[in-house]
Amino acid sequence: MYCPNCGTKLSGEKFCPSCGTNIVYPASTQSKLEGFGKDLQGIGCGCMSLIFLIILMVFLFNACTS
Ligand SMILES: [Zn+2]
Repeated sequence: MYCPNCGTKLSGEKFCPSCGTNIVYPASTQSKLEGFGKDLQGIGCGCMSLIFLIILMVFLFNACTS
């Protein structure tokens, strides 16, 4: 990773030690997962997981009573 402003080699600094530019690193795996979750909520799958849980509970309830 190099400073996009002055080209100084960086090793994880949030700010360039040479010119003080705020360094934005490529998205980590964690933030990718967060973005994936937001995408799912955006197309309505956030509700789908809740509905799936309810269906699962009803299924388990029926299995216990039968
Ligand atoms: Zn710099």
